[in-house]
Amino acid sequence: FTHAPPSLGAIFSTWAGRGDALFLVYEDERLSFAEVAARVGGLGAALVDRYGVGPGDRVAIAMRNLPEWVVAFAAITSVGAVAVSLNGWWTADELEYGLEDSGARVLVADPERVARTRDAAARLDVATIGVRLPAGDHPEGVDRWEDVVDPSLPLPPVDVAPDDDATILYTSGTTGRPKGAVSTHRAVVHAVMSFGARAAVQRLRRPEEAEAAAALPPCFILVVPLFHVTGGVAVMLTCAASGTKLVMMHKWSPERALELIEREQVTNFVGVPTQSWDLMESPEFAARDTSSLVSVGGGGAPSPPALVARVADGFARGRPSIGYGMTETNAFGPQNSGVDYVSHPTSTGRSLPTLLVEVRDPDGVEVPTGEQGEIWFKGPSLIRGYWNRPEATAEALVDGWLRTGDVGRVDEDGFVYVEDRAKDLVLRAGENVSCAEVEAAVYEHPAVYEAAVFGVPHERLGEEVAVAVLPKEGLPLDADELRAHVADRLAAFKVPSRVVVVGERLPRNAAGKILKRELRDQVAASG
Ligand code: ATP
Ligand code: MG
Repeated sequence: FTHAPPSLGAIFSTWAGRGDALFLVYEDERLSFAEVAARVGGLGAALVDRYGVGPGDRVAIAMRNLPEWVVAFAAITSVGAVAVSLNGWWTADELEYGLEDSGARVLVADPERVARTRDAAARLDVATIGVRLPAGDHPEGVDRWEDVVDPSLPLPPVDVAPDDDATILYTSGTTGRPKGAVSTHRAVVHAVMSFGARAAVQRLRRPEEAEAAAALPPCFILVVPLFHVTGGVAVMLTCAASGTKLVMMHKWSPERALELIEREQVTNFVGVPTQSWDLMESPEFAARDTSSLVSVGGGGAPSPPALVARVADGFARGRPSIGYGMTETNAFGPQNSGVDYVSHPTSTGRSLPTLLVEVRDPDGVEVPTGEQGEIWFKGPSLIRGYWNRPEATAEALVDGWLRTGDVGRVDEDGFVYVEDRAKDLVLRAGENVSCAEVEAAVYEHPAVYEAAVFGVPHERLGEEVAVAVLPKEGLPLDADELRAHVADRLAAFKVPSRVVVVGERLPRNAAGKILKRELRDQVAASG
């Protein structure tokens, strides 16, 4: 067999038959499914014939969002190799860690990443294919994509079985060093098909929204990095499997996004919650036509409940939505949208039969309905483990269940609430303060644009509660007044003793998560 389903190759092999239908839009480049398929054939042939890549070999990708990322991902997984998605924001040291950790033999990289990986690739003996390198002037030992990819060559036939490894995606590293999450073809394909099934279930439940959605052909805009699971799996592979146009952004800009939404008639916006917020806060928002949007949301991080109502009111047809997933579930998970989301703005939605949810106590015993505990998942879209980390794997995967490290609950109607990270706590004088809870209170203040709560070392208390806030433009924000606002809502020990009002966006990683460790260091250093 070649590409026995479920395998990613079975998805990509549909592209050639889609012919001239438009797939990728990037700056002024417009590539049809057939054109992308031809490039996949050319790169796949080069990987096998020129670089000797065989089944199970790791091939890394280090790029910002470019069409070649999609081509590389498809070619690598179609020839039975494992696509290792490296974070484009990583420094030279971090990229070296990713190359060494995954044991990649070949790397496909854009010019900035080629420069950043030169030394490491030489040391680790990794062959490098550079995309978009200027002709005649490229670093020694690096092959130019144009010289090795012959789009007239077909993909070499390779047997790929459903339980072969397909991908290694690094987690965001919010709680520690990023871990290489390994998925089989079966797991990734299950996740992709589950996104489709989830959307279909919602359409059945709410025909009026389905009607709005059917008015235009579907079109997604990519506003998150492909190298994370939301971009590379949830968005890109959904489009890849369903024949949907994907408008790619190289880098986030709300003004540019609004322009593209209008020009390309984008129907689906999938980002982290701050990006929906940015769209609506943009001075361009009112002047742009966003009526093509039927879904505005995403996931990956907690969303301020106030955003839900704003999205519901602010877009002509665009319904708010939020998904709760993680690298370890291939981005799949409960999703809340439309009227359900407006009525349950703090929930991430109901789970579906393909991903079981249980809330358990620290001993792994299920807690009664409605009570708080750690969220556990089970289903076919889970990773099989972490690359080369038997201990971390054994900790996270127990009898086929995944411990998410997230704290939350499920109510009697099946709505899932993610309330905290098991590790996102301030340990203040024996009281554990949930950062998420304090953040929710801070966000209720009308002048707050962005906020993060974290602990800073304190001599007597161990840690004290600190908050960094960015006020909305032109609105004054006074530290004492903010403290009084929180004190009206929460116990005194949860009120931040340190309030840092900042003048720019809070530092975030590429997954859009606020880098609390960085904030903590800054505040601790300022004394
Ligand atoms: P690491 O595992 O390396 O510490 P990470 O957990 O941030 O990093 P990801 O897999 O990118 O890496 O993120 C998944 C996590 O993001 C979830 O476990 C959860 O904590 C958070 N998250 C995702 N979606 C939501 C959501 N809708 N609401 C709240 N939190 C969310
Ligand atoms: Mg995690």
